[in-house]
Amino acid sequence: TIGASFDRTVSRFGDREALVEVATGRRWTYAELSRDVDALAVGLRRAGIQKGDRVGIWAPNCAEWTLTQLATAKIGAILVNINPAYRTHELAYALTKSSIRLLISAQEFKTSDYRAMVAEVCGDCPDLEQTVFIGDPEWTALLEAGAGESLADHVTEELSSEDPINIQYTSGTTGYPKGATLSHRNILNNGYFTTETIGLTEQDRLAIPVPFYHCFGMVMGNLGCITHGATMVIPGPAFDPATTLRTVQDERCTAVYGVPTMFIAMQNHPDFATFDLSTLRTGIMAGSPCPVEVMKRCVNEMHMSEVSIAYGMTETSPVSTQTRMDDDLEHRTATVGRVHPHVEVRVVDPTTGEILPRGEAGELQTRGYSVMLGYWDDEEKTRAAIDDEGWMHTGDLAVMNDDGYCNIVGRIKDMVIRGGENIYPREIEEFLYTHPDIEDVQVIGVPDEKYGEELCAWVRLRPGAERMTAESLRTYATGKLAHYKIPRYVLVVEEFPMTVTGKVRKVEMREKTVSELG
Ligand code: ATP
Ligand code: MG
Repeated sequence: TIGASFDRTVSRFGDREALVEVATGRRWTYAELSRDVDALAVGLRRAGIQKGDRVGIWAPNCAEWTLTQLATAKIGAILVNINPAYRTHELAYALTKSSIRLLISAQEFKTSDYRAMVAEVCGDCPDLEQTVFIGDPEWTALLEAGAGESLADHVTEELSSEDPINIQYTSGTTGYPKGATLSHRNILNNGYFTTETIGLTEQDRLAIPVPFYHCFGMVMGNLGCITHGATMVIPGPAFDPATTLRTVQDERCTAVYGVPTMFIAMQNHPDFATFDLSTLRTGIMAGSPCPVEVMKRCVNEMHMSEVSIAYGMTETSPVSTQTRMDDDLEHRTATVGRVHPHVEVRVVDPTTGEILPRGEAGELQTRGYSVMLGYWDDEEKTRAAIDDEGWMHTGDLAVMNDDGYCNIVGRIKDMVIRGGENIYPREIEEFLYTHPDIEDVQVIGVPDEKYGEELCAWVRLRPGAERMTAESLRTYATGKLAHYKIPRYVLVVEEFPMTVTGKVRKVEMREKTVSELG
């Protein structure tokens, strides 16, 4: 279980630094963290929380998030991660959908007054018995209720690694977020293997700017560090490029995580060159397609010579394939690596279900310890996602080469069919990243009477670049891309619609483009 693994690390690395919260300057060694985690676990028991009960956490990244994650795991309560961007309607839905008994909440975040929002909805959530706001006397009381007591006296039920321990919502990139129910075995092992792959040890200090509410932060980040005795460094409550870079410098971090948009923001920050990143060795980029150009800058300009790409999804705990330290640079920057230990992947024709030969694009399916128990309280969706043989249907198109390296060509839902030609937006995005004026680019399909669909590129220009038109893009791409792959439309924008996890919501872009183009 997660608790047993944590205790083992505490006994081996008790004196080493476990957690740093840069915003407040607070620091914990593993021994100190263990003391607070146990106190909170006893406090939760005293508050009536039993094994299997749902405890919600609604907060941006902070040390209390990590404390709550570990304390709930120790008593077998199921932690429900609630998206920090939620508003009342979604909050009420999350609270009732998983019948949360106790909610641990931040007071506020950005412009949101969480206290007011909880007050507004709690009357409609019959299962919710108590909300504890971090920093309030109730929070302190929860910690003090258990201080100095032995947790063993309070944990009466047997905990098993197969027990559900976490309900994690998907990013909501393609629609409504879905709640994946995950066990200790699922996420503890995945946290271990993702960081084993980048060679994390107790000597490492990992900057975690990705949200804890998502698997990237809480599994690959927190559990990854805990299983190896490494230090978790929280740059701030939400991602900010300069704060992250400064944290890496000041905290002498050896590793940093991020989705591609975060690395793009860091690398293009006006002060980028002024930060000393020489302590960096590695890191993981994951979550959406990782542009080769951005990976190369990680290696050449951020000292991340061992940087790794991981591919996965919330439903598979999350990682299924990852590049390894000893892969050559080409494979490390341009593929999502090979399958993880104890996991199977295969590439299947989505219509016939047949396994495709190497080199052909089809749906990536995965099977193994990492596949979720199911979607919370949703038999039907679970059965649609995991087949009778245990294969998770990812909805992602991939190609596997002869050596087992995989490329993600895109989501099935994002594939564009123009005049009978299958077009993968990813390929065009990769090409457009080479344009000197383009800082970031996303390509989508929009309905077209003649061809069924046409391509549209949303472009964010580099500072100093003045404008870009469909004609100038065509001139640039002609002779380099097949004519049907050159976007017919170009929209220059300041930003893309994003999820809290930093992913571009192409559904929203498609809607906006259609109304923009009339
Ligand atoms: P939703 O399922 O709610 O629409 P989501 O799929 O974005 O949102 P997550 O579980 O956070 O929710 O993300 C998993 C998806 O992210 C994968 O299915 C894949 O499409 C994409 N992804 C993750 N890592 C990579 C990667 N390295 N390269 C390309 N795509 C990736
Ligand atoms: Mg998904």
